[in-house]
Amino acid sequence: MLPAGDVRDLARLIARNAPDEQVQARAHAVRMRLNPNPAGQLVPNTLSLDGRPLPGVQHDYTETVLFSLGHGQTAAGDIDGLVTYLRRHPEVTSVLITGGDPMFMGAQSLRRYLTPLLDPSLEHLESIRIGTRSLAYWPQRYVTDPDADATLRQFEEVADSGRHLAVMAYFSHPRELAPALEQEAARRITASGAVIRTQAPLIRAVDDEPETWRAMWRAQLRQGMVPYYMFVERDTGPQDYFAVPLASGYEIFRNAFGTVSGLARTVRGPSMSAAAGKIGVDGIADVGGNKVFVLRMIQARDPFLVGRQFFAHFDPAATWITGLQPAFAPSFPYSLSPREAARPVSPPACPAALPPS
Ligand SMILES: *Cc1c(COP(=O)(O)O)cnc(C)c1O
Repeated sequence: MLPAGDVRDLARLIARNAPDEQVQARAHAVRMRLNPNPAGQLVPNTLSLDGRPLPGVQHDYTETVLFSLGHGQTAAGDIDGLVTYLRRHPEVTSVLITGGDPMFMGAQSLRRYLTPLLDPSLEHLESIRIGTRSLAYWPQRYVTDPDADATLRQFEEVADSGRHLAVMAYFSHPRELAPALEQEAARRITASGAVIRTQAPLIRAVDDEPETWRAMWRAQLRQGMVPYYMFVERDTGPQDYFAVPLASGYEIFRNAFGTVSGLARTVRGPSMSAAAGKIGVDGIADVGGNKVFVLRMIQARDPFLVGRQFFAHFDPAATWITGLQPAFAPSFPYSLSPREAARPVSPPACPAALPPS
């Protein structure tokens, strides 16, 4: 999956029994180019409270705070830090618990995070979201596991507190929605009062056909889920291998979107999670002889920018916002993070032969 040049270099080093340190150094350089922390995740997002750092808490968008459990240092105590932070920020109406995958936790651990958020002092908190792939790969978590009922009871408690629990479920293929166990899990979650909203990245060779999305959204709707986002694969990892050009992504989205019931057209995309916010590709248009991408800030750190449209010169090969040039304006309406600005723009590699699925 790595770029061919990197594979060749590494293979050469190994073939001539190069010293370990040399191979490691080369591998490290390759890894760093895979951009393990896109969208400035490392730098601007460390919040603090009374001089104490708040690991795992990220407040990019006015109304939503992201609470990441996969942060390593995030210990159970940090929920107290989050609650204190939320008390002082009445503008925050939504907490998004993310990971790793929070549903890896058993019901008892989950309770340590959910219950404090239901505290009456957090009256302004309207919704709690849990980002998870568990419905696809571990539906027994909600059906037959020993703590399945206890988990769903907690979901009910969120609803009983007058709040909305959104299970943000990742599905990458309609096949993940076919098992009877998954369907039973969805039924049980929905019966708890939670709403399942769905999202997934667009990945070459996995879900880069309109029919895949159409089938996915229709199966989701049947199961009472609300399609929410189609993401553009982030500029991280073996991007050359998995990336779908924005132009194709837009066509895949539009093609699928155009043939589903209005109830499934709650979905937005294709959307890029960049440092400045979520940027959606709204269209490809001809404006006075200029072929352009019509882009829109779906979400933005700067509330002034939310919902605003802007333009970029059309480029059939571009796979990320950093590969685009502004049109009809000297710059995009926001500034890039230093990391984004420095990122070289590589055209997508020729499709490699894929193993049979
Ligand atoms: C996507 C995202 C959110 C949630 O945005 P919505 O548009 O409300 O779904 C919050 N924080 C971060 C950092 C995000 O990337």
